[in-house]
Amino acid sequence: MSVKLEKVVETFYENLEQGRITGRKCKQCGAVEFPPVYACNSCGSTDMEWVEISGKAKMYSIVMPAPLSMKPEYKSLGKFAYGEVEIEEGARLNAVVRGMTKKKRKEIMENKKLPVSCHAAIYQRDGYKTVVFDLDEEQ
Ligand SMILES: [Zn+2]
Repeated sequence: MSVKLEKVVETFYENLEQGRITGRKCKQCGAVEFPPVYACNSCGSTDMEWVEISGKAKMYSIVMPAPLSMKPEYKSLGKFAYGEVEIEEGARLNAVVRGMTKKKRKEIMENKKLPVSCHAAIYQRDGYKTVVFDLDEEQ
């Protein structure tokens, strides 16, 4: 990992410690990258600034975790799934989405409700904070 990228990652985690979920906005084309990257994925510019994201997002796909692959540190997440999430600002990422059960997934798939609304939350892992998403209640 380059030193510059390390610095970006460091700032991202420092912001999380202060309760702020941040991405990087490209000053050239306006694209917002999340999780933050050093150079814009859309135009390659390195002229980027930190912005707080709204947290609003949509989940486009749902992958239930395989029970046997469940890592112990994931236990405190409760029910969750993996999925492709697009934040309001436009960036897409693969993320953990809490509050998803097999039953909910079935209902969402049967009623063709994707994408479903969710929002970003700060999750305390062992010794550091990270970002997960919570399924919005009204689906
Ligand atoms: Zn750009």
